[in-house]
Amino acid sequence: MSNFDFDLFVIGGGSGGVRAARMAAGRGGRVAMAETLGTDGLGGTCVNVGCIPKKLYSYAAHYAESFEESHGYGWEGERPSLNWSTLKANRAKEISRLNGVYANLLRGSGVTVINGFARIDGPHAVTVATLNADGSPGHQSFTAANILIATGGTPFVPHFVGREHVITSNEVFDLEPFPQRLLVVGGGYIACEFASIFNGMGAKVTQLYRGEQVLRGFDDEIRHFVAGEMLKAGVDLRLNAGVVDIRKTDDGLRAELEDGNVVMADAVLYATGRQPNVQGLGLEAVGVAQGGQGEVIVDEHYRTNVPSIWAVGDVTNRVQLTPVALGEAMVVVDQLFGPAPGKVPRSMSYEFIPTAVFTHPNIGTVGLTEAQARERFGAITIFRSEFRALRHTLSGSSERTLMKLVVDTATDRVVGLHMVGAEAGEIVQGFAVAMKAGATKAVFDSTIGIHPTAAEEFVTMR
Ligand code: FAD
Ligand code: NDP
Repeated sequence: MSNFDFDLFVIGGGSGGVRAARMAAGRGGRVAMAETLGTDGLGGTCVNVGCIPKKLYSYAAHYAESFEESHGYGWEGERPSLNWSTLKANRAKEISRLNGVYANLLRGSGVTVINGFARIDGPHAVTVATLNADGSPGHQSFTAANILIATGGTPFVPHFVGREHVITSNEVFDLEPFPQRLLVVGGGYIACEFASIFNGMGAKVTQLYRGEQVLRGFDDEIRHFVAGEMLKAGVDLRLNAGVVDIRKTDDGLRAELEDGNVVMADAVLYATGRQPNVQGLGLEAVGVAQGGQGEVIVDEHYRTNVPSIWAVGDVTNRVQLTPVALGEAMVVVDQLFGPAPGKVPRSMSYEFIPTAVFTHPNIGTVGLTEAQARERFGAITIFRSEFRALRHTLSGSSERTLMKLVVDTATDRVVGLHMVGAEAGEIVQGFAVAMKAGATKAVFDSTIGIHPTAAEEFVTMR
């Protein structure tokens, strides 16, 4: 590989790119990484405008519930109010700290980080738009034995009259002022999470979803249950609903809906999916095959049809989750630099990927939905438990928890595990290991519970 400037040139300093660059350098590769946002933006979507700030705001929103619920436990006094500016400032400080941690990790691994937008000029050539010493636009060209595209995705907003008035998840974290009335459009992860978060923080939230029920792809019972809990918590969730147009008025944004109703809002958040970041990358010129949404097409090792060019993460438009991008990056590193000593080259399985939706209450899920399992196995057995968590016996909250197991009757294997309830994400992670290992319902039954927890229900359902 030594005739090139680098062994690996990574485009994009997000979840997948940083992991690949660090690990490749750790295995002795000469690695460069270009990031449009520069070292201040290292960590990509997840760190800057995704998982991390979202979870911090979700914690912020949970305090409101806790203050409310504390009275039943004997706590008295006035309810504290949210200082939105403090929250934003503290979040920004923490994100900057994380950007610095990433920069140090990359520096420590010996990765050359280049600030600027990268374009692929050939199977082994990359040009990065950089700034000259005097601040004028310039560029630097590099050669590399291999190029990894890890450019992620960007929010998609459909075309309609008034589109210029709406925001996406990129802007929602820094809204000024706090939106007392928030209209959310979409029914996926982002729409449901932010509807819950802003509702919890005290905004009047209206959420519109175009279909019959939010969170398409999740277990139907879980979808209905979480929608019910969100409604109970105060989100004005409207199904089979959509926007005709949005106009600016003296009283804020006026959204006319398909059913003739009008919603007035201080901000309108469109969370209608994401599209791969491929614009200006030069993929067409170099002949990298792309799918209908522009996504980069890869094989099971994340290699494109151009043998020296690879792609991982959201730009491949498959499972858009940070841990998936990290796992894919490790496969590429093993392919290019060999596995870690004593290990076999990694591969990625898309079965049993656990995931959480940080609605209030959370969803945690791994494996097949009831419908998917029925289609695959025919005979399945469902175990479910719905209850009011112990915490809420005194808190006064009417929030309920749902837990559900889907079992392949013929083999007794647990093929689906779903939960709506507090800390569902934390709980499901551990069960995902058992399910990867092929745990049967008999194994669940023979596991001793931890009492008193909600999680113990998963091993006591009969
Ligand atoms: P990214 O992290 O998007 O990184 C791509 C990087 O490439 C960016 O920094 C971009 O600036 C840079 N770039 C793009 N083009 C170029 C170019 N031409 N040259 C140089 N640099 C370029 N996932 C979870 O697992 N859990 C969650 O809780 C979660 N919450 C989310 C919340 C929100 C609001 C959003 C939007 C996403 C969330 N995700 C979550 C998804 C997760 O953030 C993504 O799946 C993950 O970040 C994908 O990583 P990536 O490396 O593919 O791309
Ligand atoms: P999703 O694909 O999850 O949801 C998009 C939503 O927008 C769907 O409800 C979809 O409806 C709706 N929609 C799409 N197009 C239109 C349109 N033209 N008009 C009205 N509604 C429309 O995307 P998100 O943007 O919510 O999130 C992107 C991805 O990021 C997620 O899929 C997930 O992988 C990741 N993510 C993960 C999180 C986590 O792990 N907790 C949190 C946030 C994001 P329909 O279902 O009918 O197509």
